[in-house]
Amino acid sequence: MTSQKRLDFIDLKSQQQRISALLAENLQRVLAHGQYIMGPEVHELETKLAAYVGVKHAISCSSGTDALLMPLMAYGVGPGDAIFTTPFTFIATAEVIQLLGATPVFVDIDPKTFNLDPEALAEAVSRLGQHPGTAHLKPKGIIPVDLFGQPADYDRIQAIAQSHGLFVLEDAAQSFGATYKGRRAGALAEVAATSFFPAKPLGCYGDGGAIFTDNDDLAAVLCSIRNHGQGRHKYENVRIGLNGRLDTLQAAVLLAKLEIFDQEVMARQGVARQYGQALNTVVETPEVAQDCTSVWAQYSVLSEHRQLLLQKLQDAQIPSAIYYPLPLHLQGAFAHLGHKPGDFPVSESASQRIFSLPMHPYLGQADQEKIVGVLLK
Ligand SMILES: *Cc1c(COP(=O)(O)O)cnc(C)c1O
Repeated sequence: MTSQKRLDFIDLKSQQQRISALLAENLQRVLAHGQYIMGPEVHELETKLAAYVGVKHAISCSSGTDALLMPLMAYGVGPGDAIFTTPFTFIATAEVIQLLGATPVFVDIDPKTFNLDPEALAEAVSRLGQHPGTAHLKPKGIIPVDLFGQPADYDRIQAIAQSHGLFVLEDAAQSFGATYKGRRAGALAEVAATSFFPAKPLGCYGDGGAIFTDNDDLAAVLCSIRNHGQGRHKYENVRIGLNGRLDTLQAAVLLAKLEIFDQEVMARQGVARQYGQALNTVVETPEVAQDCTSVWAQYSVLSEHRQLLLQKLQDAQIPSAIYYPLPLHLQGAFAHLGHKPGDFPVSESASQRIFSLPMHPYLGQADQEKIVGVLLK
């Protein structure tokens, strides 16, 4: 039976079948009340998200990218500010820094977790200004990324941030549902951003995101920025903001998906466990730090023979992907920073050897055995 069904990289169809009744009910309710912008489902979702993550405020918004951008706006980030982040991430993480005229300062990653290396971070922060192009920069903040679903090392990052007076913005776009020392992703820094892009662990049927914080003042500013810098009423504008709201229809979708999310996370972890046991002789399988859980946004492995293995998968009609084929410091969008190959060797080495296998909660035993079999052959 499974051999007739296409093997998906991410299977959203099976999930949809599972929640179809609740989904229809939720969507129908929005169509009936007609409050498409900031309707009751948006507020219900925000309450549930805040409780889930364990923070005071969840501010839903238009995308993960805007969820990163708006906190930077709230902190007044602009020209002359240095924001430290990883070059081994999706473009959005560093794009928002540049968009505000600030400067991304890249820091290499830990080879095991692919997350910001705290030691390299400490060095980069204390060395800022020693390079000709960075003399005018003021250190302002850090954006760690919880890559592939595993949180970065926030205790060590926070210590560095505190000693230099920097803010920390957690890029939890891939890690909603993961934990670090018993705390949930989204609650690991003073402010965090997540994404509800359809392929993320918790995804809607379009673009969406959310910002998390315990800080009341910051939350108020973020709500204002989300709505054109609104003041006390609709036509008072006290700052420059965005149209950064989440659609009510997307909130209705997310409310349905949230009902089964914990079960899905467990299923993802089961898939990852089996991959790890079956594949550790043929590729470098990912490692999760002892005090963390991953939500497995991607299951990414390393191999010197990537091309060969990708070809085998393709021949067997098994989808795969490469996250990320070129680190950000070597992208044309950041050419003005003047980086060259060799600047961040761990990121570059990962980008040359990494690839990701199908990963979703509905990956059945037979499909997983097929994938493993092809790689072991
Ligand atoms: C997906 C993603 C984003 C951006 O989210 P969108 O909702 O697509 O705007 C930001 N950072 C990381 C690490 C991501 O994976």
